[in-house]
Parts: sequence; C-alpha cells; structure tokens
Amino acid sequence: MTNPNICGQCDSMNRSCCTLRAENNEGLPAPVSEPEIKRILIFLKDKKRELLLDSRNNSPQFIRQMSILFPDMADSVHKIFPVNKTHFDLKTQENTCIFKERNGCLLPNEARPHFCRIYPFWFFDDELQIFEDPNCLALGNCRTIPEVLLSLGTNTEKLKQIHARIYEDWGLSRSIPQERKKVFL
Ligand code: SF4
Repeated sequence: MTNPNICGQCDSMNRSCCTLRAENNEGLPAPVSEPEIKRILIFLKDKKRELLLDSRNNSPQFIRQMSILFPDMADSVHKIFPVNKTHFDLKTQENTCIFKERNGCLLPNEARPHFCRIYPFWFFDDELQIFEDPNCLALGNCRTIPEVLLSLGTNTEKLKQIHARIYEDWGLSRSIPQERKKVFL
C-alpha cells in the first residue's frame, strides 16, 4: 500500500494487495525476515510475535518461487528456506493482512515489510519490472512503468534501495551478477 489515493481506491473495492494477501500467498511469496519482524515488534512495543505471524511450510512451490525472485541466489535460497522447515508470513484474517486498518496500513513505512513497500515492482538483472496483477488498480490504469511509478508515488531509486534491503535482511550477498530472467510482465 504506497499511494493513499490509488491504494485507497483499490482497497475500497476490496481488491488491494493487503486485502487479497492470503490469495496472493498462493501465487507470490512474501515471507518476512527476522530483521523485519524485529522492527514490527519494536513498533508494536514487543507484542507477542505469535499473534502477528503465521508459520508456513517451505513447500517445493514456495522454494521454486523464491528461487525465481532471487535468480542469482538459488543455493542461498535453498539454505535459508530448507525443505520441510518453515518461514514466517504476516497473519491474515479473512484473507486480509491483520495490519490493514480502515485507512490503510497500521505500520509506518519504516516498520512495514519490504515486500509491501516494493510491490508490485521487482528487479531482474537490475532492471525494474512489474508483477502481473489483474487486481491492482494502478496497473489497470497505467500503460507504462513510469506511469505506475508516478501513480504509486515512488521512483526507481527508492525501489532499488528497498530491493537491496531485502537481500540484506535475508543475508543474501549479491556477489554474482544476476541472470536475465523475464518471468513476469
Ligand atoms: S503490512 Fe501493511 S502494507 Fe503490508 S500487507 Fe499488511 S496492511 Fe498491507
């Protein structure tokens, strides 16, 4: 949830990425790392973590999707998310993230998970790309990436920093150049 206007409109139609989070989990993984969990707990004054998080299996599909998101990090992805172990995701209630309030996300930007802050963008081979998402109003209204950036009130530089923080918080060091892989839009 980035731009209060477009995301608010999406939300009022009950189709925002925060509302459809549980559904999105089937298609696009958004695990939360320990540093992200720590930031949320600090903001919430150390509320019990089990109230905020769901533990999910590192299913073969999940691991495959994570390997697609981090194409240069396949070995690390398998180490961080071993088969038969689990990862954490934000808890949902009736398909909606528990942090979503009437007026948007309860969490301030600095405590919000990186995947929330970068979505619907991602970088492949350092090139900004957009996930296909028929529910996203910003994508439906815009024709080009610059238009989507403008619509969501962000820019490539900000997104690059978030992307780098994702690597950092998962302990993924990018020593090998990314393989070019256009699996999404
Ligand atoms: S943490 Fe906030 S931005 Fe992320 S899914 Fe939940 S409500 Fe949406």
